[in-house]
Amino acid sequence: MNNFYDFLIVGGGSAGYAAGRTLHEGGGSVAVVDGADELSGLCILRGCMPSKTLIYSAETLHLAREGSVFGFDSVDLKADMFAMQKRKREIIEKFADYRKGQLEDDRFTLFRSKAKFLDENNVELDDGTILRADKYVISTGSGISMPDVPGLNQVSFKTSDDVLDLSEIPKEVVVLGGGIVACELAQFLSRVGSRVTLLQRSDYILKEFSNQASICVKKKFMEEGIKVLTGVTVKNLKQIDQETICVNYNFNGEDHSVDTKFLFHAMGRTPATDGLNLDKVGVKTAKSGHIQTNAFQQTSIPNIYAAGDCAGPHEIVHVAIRQGETAAMHALGQNPEPLCYDHLLGVVFTDPQVASVGLLPEELDKRGIEYLSADYPFDDHGKSILMEAKHGYVAVHADKATGIVLGAECVGKDAGELIHTLSIAVSLKATVHQLAKADWYHPTLSEIWTYPLEDLAELIPTTT
Ligand SMILES: Cc1cc2nc3c(=O)[nH]c(=O)nc-3n(C[C@H](O)[C@H](O)[C@H](O)COP(=O)(O)OP(=O)(O)OC[C@H]3O[C@@H](n4cnc5c(N)ncnc54)[C@H](O)[C@@H]3O)c2cc1C
Repeated sequence: MNNFYDFLIVGGGSAGYAAGRTLHEGGGSVAVVDGADELSGLCILRGCMPSKTLIYSAETLHLAREGSVFGFDSVDLKADMFAMQKRKREIIEKFADYRKGQLEDDRFTLFRSKAKFLDENNVELDDGTILRADKYVISTGSGISMPDVPGLNQVSFKTSDDVLDLSEIPKEVVVLGGGIVACELAQFLSRVGSRVTLLQRSDYILKEFSNQASICVKKKFMEEGIKVLTGVTVKNLKQIDQETICVNYNFNGEDHSVDTKFLFHAMGRTPATDGLNLDKVGVKTAKSGHIQTNAFQQTSIPNIYAAGDCAGPHEIVHVAIRQGETAAMHALGQNPEPLCYDHLLGVVFTDPQVASVGLLPEELDKRGIEYLSADYPFDDHGKSILMEAKHGYVAVHADKATGIVLGAECVGKDAGELIHTLSIAVSLKATVHQLAKADWYHPTLSEIWTYPLEDLAELIPTTT
């Protein structure tokens, strides 16, 4: 067997597949090495797709329970976890089969093994096979992190994998963490019937977003009966018996404790680089563990690229794909655009959803950019009022001199869909004046953007 390839990809998830596809299209032989028992990557198997399938089921259940508001009798509806999981499995199996087919087709030579670097041109597989390539893309993803919380490594905690595979609904859950996965799955658990307590170290949940967004989501969580405590220090975790864990924490200067049979560790993920021998080859990593790259995803060793969660800085799928494609194009000697996150799009699938694009006030202030902002609440907008979707707001931030849209935020029903209009505006450097002139159908949720856009268009003189 010829064990030499032009390109070798370590890890066949979203980033690795995107790199492989692009490299194949560019010409040259491509090998993919993936060590998972099940191929397809995090997004399809244990990330975006299963979580959003279950969250949508829980959202539908929640809406149905609110039936009397909309004028029909709502009986005592309950989540059927068996049926929800069956639906999820059927959906995920189809996505996974499709991705497996893509990886196994004749565009690539696929090796089902872990790989570790011997030097900058050779990797070794578990069975001792040595593969040689001119250029590499490392796209090994991420794993659950083990932050420095006393006792964490001695207790039987659960992770997002366990929540996504629940066969029965836990009576109560303590969630450690207040990030995206923590919040999305805390609300899912609460809506299917668990009593949920969420403990977050920072003063705000969803701290990647604005404080206003965080406050909005927290308010809705509390209304739905989720106990949200922020500014919490977890002092230690103790396994009391086979099933029960005691969480000792400090909140508002006082010590408290809570016992739980379901401790959900949602304090984040860490780049999966253990065992790759990166030190030996000289591939540098940052303090966060992410593989350091330039804007073309090239590491400190020029023929080795890195993309996706293992490279960061944003662990989301469209970024992983863009990074994989950029790495591949650069490796092919094409001239890709360098990665830049000034247009970054982020979505949280809580209810209300949170979505943002581009630069938000904190970053604009940091960079000394002069801008104007305008916002508008959903509780004063026609379509959201008739849908009883009154939580949240939209906000637009535009350059003070030109009116170019620099960033936007939306918290509310279907914010993850609504933000795309503004994402296109930010990418195309459209101005508030151009957007205000577009047609906005009535009555739609999207129409809410016209309020801040018109306010800004009035304040900022037209330059064209
Ligand atoms: C619960 C949850 C929900 C999420 N929801 C969203 C969402 O809604 N939207 C969004 O954009 N993102 C979401 N994410 C994040 C998203 O799933 C990841 O950013 C994305 O899947 C990362 O892709 P990747 O290619 O970097 O890694 P992966 O898809 O994890 O691929 C890495 C591959 O590398 C292989 N591998 C690892 N080490 C080795 C080795 N040494 N040798 C060979 N193979 C190896 C693994 O087997 C794996 O197949 C979510 C994540 C979680 C956990």
